[in-house]
Amino acid sequence: MTGNPLSRRDVVRGAVFLGVGAATGGLSIAGAPPALAAPDEAAALAVPVPTIASCATWGARSPGALSVISSSPDKIVIHHTAGANTTNYTQAQAFAMARSIQSFHMDGNGWADSGQHFTISRGGYIMEGRHNSLTRLRAGSGMVVGAHCPGQNDKGIGIENEGTYTSATPPAALYDSLVQFCAYICDQYGIAASRIYGHRDYIATACPGNVLYGMLPQLRADVADALDGGTTPPPAFSAIVDNTTSGRFTASANWLTSTYSTERYGADYRYANPEAISDVAYYKVNIPAEGTYRVDAWYPGIAGYNTATPYIVLAKSGNQTVVVDQSTGGGAWRSLGNFTLTAGDKNVVGVSRWSGAAGYVIADAVRVTRV
Ligand SMILES: [Zn+2]
Repeated sequence: MTGNPLSRRDVVRGAVFLGVGAATGGLSIAGAPPALAAPDEAAALAVPVPTIASCATWGARSPGALSVISSSPDKIVIHHTAGANTTNYTQAQAFAMARSIQSFHMDGNGWADSGQHFTISRGGYIMEGRHNSLTRLRAGSGMVVGAHCPGQNDKGIGIENEGTYTSATPPAALYDSLVQFCAYICDQYGIAASRIYGHRDYIATACPGNVLYGMLPQLRADVADALDGGTTPPPAFSAIVDNTTSGRFTASANWLTSTYSTERYGADYRYANPEAISDVAYYKVNIPAEGTYRVDAWYPGIAGYNTATPYIVLAKSGNQTVVVDQSTGGGAWRSLGNFTLTAGDKNVVGVSRWSGAAGYVIADAVRVTRV
């Protein structure tokens, strides 16, 4: 579906999540942080972040009991809704469709919530399906168990595409959103573009229709292109180490534990006063092979936290220091850059207390992804 003049890809590219970035309450800390150290401007995903409407945004009902698991999905499963091929391409229609599916799944099927993880309308609007799907995707780890494909509900991200594609072709707006969204999912979870499947690959069903199923090889190729221009393999390795990850995070008792900020990764995070001493909190990662890796940091950003926190990446060329403003831009993965790392199970990233700026230095989570 390349070269379609109706491509919506450029519209999707560069957009941001709905409802992300709300500031949390300030933390009162003695001594105002100095106005220096520019914020880390390096944050940039390899793949554009598409706009994804959360359950709250499209007006979902409260779900029943759901199961969120720590293991991450290893594939994407493509569906069609088998509904009407509407020519109403508006956001309002998309949101109404999402509500209709949820009600059918809850009231008709007796399920706890929408069965699929995500939904894309014929107008190209991407929506969260089952609650918690978007939170886990944003984090790049874990998933909510779905109800879209027997045997794959705890392994595959299920995407429902509005319409019936037994003989009709999906609109360009839908297809282009599907490409960008699959690329984002693959990037976040470290899934290869080759691991995009159709519902019928796992069970006797017409889903996702002969036409859409026949487009899956093209979809895989287009997603690979979106990931990296089609010139290099997709990331084959990604690991997240949180401050609670057993055996992989080490810090002295001077680093205290807090749950104050809701922007934290996982249950809690560690904090310490800045001081000109060597008291580094370390993250240990098992690097599979020497190569180029992107290192991302996650911290809760709060006005009053340290504006010049030194992150240390133990790269092949020696220790590389990246200074991050932890008073802003928290609650998301922030790129520290790409680094050449050597193979081995060892400390790869550290957070140092040796900052000239005031405010707590934070050690929450890091992510290392082969690029
Ligand atoms: Zn299906």
